[in-house]
Amino acid sequence: MRHIVVVGAGQAGSSCVAKLRNDGFDGKVTLIGAEPVPPYQRPPLSKAYLLGDMALERLYLRPESFYSEHDIDLRMGRPVSHLDIDARKISISSETFEYDELVLTTGSVPNRLPGAIGGALEGVHVVRDLSDVDAMSPRFIKGTRVLIVGGGYIGLEAAAVASKLGLKVTLVEQSERILQRVAAPETSDFFRDLHTKHGVDIREGVGLDHLQGEVNVTGAMLNDHSELAVDFVIAGVGIRPGTGLAETAGIEIKNGIKVDAHGRTSAPHVWAAGDCTSFPYRGGRIRLESVPNAIEQAEVVAANLMGAGKEYVAAPWFWSDQYDVKLQIAGLNTGYDRVITRRTDADSLSIWYYRGDDLLAVDAMNDPRGFMVGKRLIEGGKSPDPTAIMDPSTDLKALLRA
Ligand code: FAD
Repeated sequence: MRHIVVVGAGQAGSSCVAKLRNDGFDGKVTLIGAEPVPPYQRPPLSKAYLLGDMALERLYLRPESFYSEHDIDLRMGRPVSHLDIDARKISISSETFEYDELVLTTGSVPNRLPGAIGGALEGVHVVRDLSDVDAMSPRFIKGTRVLIVGGGYIGLEAAAVASKLGLKVTLVEQSERILQRVAAPETSDFFRDLHTKHGVDIREGVGLDHLQGEVNVTGAMLNDHSELAVDFVIAGVGIRPGTGLAETAGIEIKNGIKVDAHGRTSAPHVWAAGDCTSFPYRGGRIRLESVPNAIEQAEVVAANLMGAGKEYVAAPWFWSDQYDVKLQIAGLNTGYDRVITRRTDADSLSIWYYRGDDLLAVDAMNDPRGFMVGKRLIEGGKSPDPTAIMDPSTDLKALLRA
């Protein structure tokens, strides 16, 4: 019987095995994950779950019974330590699994603050796994002082939760502005104002020099020579693709596990999907860190394992929740040369990214219509006249028919 082994029981791994069964694959399916819990959604880890508004069971992508009911052999708490692509075998300590086809869905690894600047002190956290959040959430007590290092989405979401729960929040971002890597100054301005209104002390252009403390972190020295007393620290300083297993097996890595449009890696019978991959996109190659990408790419791989011969055409989108603002992002803004701001009322705003006359991406804050229309325009290769976008009286939906 044909045996498909999927390594990495997260969003992509779970989507891949579910799709295999849904499409009628009747061979053997094994899903192996390093974490001791069934596959779960990560987005609520820095949002509703951290806030205490979401029960653990609701995090799970599917009930644990789903896997047995669909004859999926789910192995939890099993970090795969070795892959032999010639023998088509993977190993977990003394256990070995042989495969006919292997899918790597090993996700991302969070960057940590270096030990040399106090990154290994007690009370220094990252936000990647459920266990990370379970370890930090008892510290979310009113009046507690938290330092958040990094003004990307994860850092800002954690800041929003901490501020809502009454913590004293300082966020440092060493770049000139928060969200610098991913968004235009207009979007940064929106979120800076939002956080400042909620009492978060945002310091931009200021990096962490080092953390202080013997066993527990007690303070931080910033590189503008200011000193802060802190009770705990959250590092939101980016992630890197989880390529370790693939790399040691000799699989080609290029800003992630390099896959083709079908999801094949450089090794025969080895496929990959999700955060850990880079894949062809509009003549180049990208890596995406998002749920929609993990699901859709994994489903294409599952279909291809059954001979569909499908190409994955990414339609990037992303979201973030901070306080009562829902940010939805459509497209990728890489290479933009101007932005258009559309404000329809006091609470909703959208930022439209253009390169020349081409619409690349939209950041929509509390503006689901702007997001939906922007997404469809981008996917359809349509670029409306920026003056129409800027005009709040323009009926956006009409642009789709143009
Ligand atoms: P993961 O879900 O990370 O799963 C990979 C799994 O592989 C992990 O469980 C890991 O333990 C396991 N693994 C790794 N190596 C091995 C090994 N050797 N053996 C066995 N198992 C292994 N995306 C959005 O679109 N919107 C959001 O709002 C959003 N918010 C986020 C908030 C947080 C706090 C985080 C951490 C992520 C967020 N993301 C968001 C990103 C999104 O969650 C990821 O892009 C998505 O989970 C990627 O899915 P994946 O399956 O590729 O990786």
